[in-house]
Amino acid sequence: MNLSSKKRSGISQTFSKIDIKGDKMVCEAARVREITTSMIRRMFEVVAEAKKRGIDVISLSIGEPDFDTDERIVELACRAKRKGYTHYTSNLGIEELREAIAERYGVDRNEVMVTAGGSEALINASIAFIERNSRVVIPSPNFLSYFVYAKLCEAEIVQIKTHPNFNIDVDALNEVVNKNTSAIFINYPNNPTGVVEDGKTLKAVVEIAEDSEALVISDEIYDQIYYNKKPVNLVDRENVIVINGFSKSLAMTGWRVGFVIARENLIDSMLKVHQVNGVCAPSFAQKAIADAFASGIFDDVTARMRKAFRERRDYLYPALKKIGFKVVKPEGAFYMFPKIPVNINCIEFTEKLVMRGVAVTPGTAFGDGNESYIRVSYASSLNSLKKAVDRMRVFLEELDSS
Ligand code: PLP
Repeated sequence: MNLSSKKRSGISQTFSKIDIKGDKMVCEAARVREITTSMIRRMFEVVAEAKKRGIDVISLSIGEPDFDTDERIVELACRAKRKGYTHYTSNLGIEELREAIAERYGVDRNEVMVTAGGSEALINASIAFIERNSRVVIPSPNFLSYFVYAKLCEAEIVQIKTHPNFNIDVDALNEVVNKNTSAIFINYPNNPTGVVEDGKTLKAVVEIAEDSEALVISDEIYDQIYYNKKPVNLVDRENVIVINGFSKSLAMTGWRVGFVIARENLIDSMLKVHQVNGVCAPSFAQKAIADAFASGIFDDVTARMRKAFRERRDYLYPALKKIGFKVVKPEGAFYMFPKIPVNINCIEFTEKLVMRGVAVTPGTAFGDGNESYIRVSYASSLNSLKKAVDRMRVFLEELDSS
């Protein structure tokens, strides 16, 4: 059957056709049409080309801790599997893990839902609360996925720029949040800047949302990776959905365990999506994490990672400044968002830098106004960071003299 010859009366122009075989087509839904994977693909191509030319590329574009999951957690998971943690769990997660999370954040267990990673928690919240054509406010720069969720929900995205210090301007936020606003996404410690926002500003954000009956979706996935300024957790607020997980805090990105903290009635709405989306997080992983909390392994692992990331930050921040970048000192996560000191678009800069042996992420991946920025991830050994800085210094000198 040739789908392209079928009538999709009235709505045909909202579909874009995808060639599958000769003249046969399927249609892509409008909600995904504006979402692009071209930047990721392009970066893969550029890195592959550099490697083909024999260039040894140091990757500072990685969005996960460079540590393996702690061996003790791996062992706990193996034990859990042998004990039969191989089945579905309750959609909300196993009781022990919900209890452990609730206790740590000082909330009721019924306000915790375990999900298949932070990403699943984010999409559950988006589908449950972002109405079609409603306004979604995203401070820029920010984690790329928020833009994708808003597009999937067919919302209007309004960005507020936070440059040069990457703090939220409360007045600017107040101006764009209106009665049609469904959600404001925030993320502290922030990917890509490493900024940790003040409690006072966060309180104002929550109040601005409240005045317009909007939700704050507070992504706190990096809350265990901080330096001198401890991030504020926005739990226990009526209009806030807190997103979190263990991908970053326990270096468990491949295990897919996240969680949401929100009022029970909000959890109910998200459960409607989660029951058909993630269904449940892997049961043995949930059990291993619950045991890691109970035995003190959680705190030990997070403390050790914090120490390693601090050491790298303390090297990289002055080193990038010294070679000419303007950088805001990160107070959390493992990213910096330096401004390129020469007049060149970040994509061109990134592509040329790969050929000099360093991969970073162009700022435009993180929203509007980021054309002259790059994201540098320091989830890499100190040795690699030193080599990378040296290569960047030579590259900047070349650019400067050309
Ligand atoms: N939120 C932020 C800000 C992130 O940087 C990431 C991953 O890079 C996620 C959420 C997704 O984490 P998960 O692996 O738990 O889905």
